[in-house]
Amino acid sequence: MTKPNFNINSIMTALKAKEADASRILQSRDAIIIEKSADELDEIEGAVAREIAIRNLDRESGLLREIRSALRRIDAGTFGMCLHCEEEISLRRLEAVPWARLCLQCQEAADRGDYRVLETEQVRLAEAA
Ligand SMILES: [Zn+2]
Repeated sequence: MTKPNFNINSIMTALKAKEADASRILQSRDAIIIEKSADELDEIEGAVAREIAIRNLDRESGLLREIRSALRRIDAGTFGMCLHCEEEISLRRLEAVPWARLCLQCQEAADRGDYRVLETEQVRLAEAA
């Protein structure tokens, strides 16, 4: 494998900071429990707030999985390599999205629902887990 062209320590620091953030948000699950109100409007607002809180938790737990998987790839020495085409993921992309597991081209293909990309991605993720 080629030598990484990025500073793995700063990426790891960013990942760990994000991991701590996401864990903290996930621990505040109590925000979901909103008191029943006699007032109908309050109740609607409560339902909306609950909906938003659940969506946030969903997003954060997804993110946490991504981050932990990226940290495992750092350990395994495969970090920064696209899970599909095995090309290096660009430094700019990794700086913006340190848990990225696909290069930009493969990510775009995956977003379009290209099953070949989605398939290898899932297989490699399972191998790395
Ligand atoms: Zn790729």
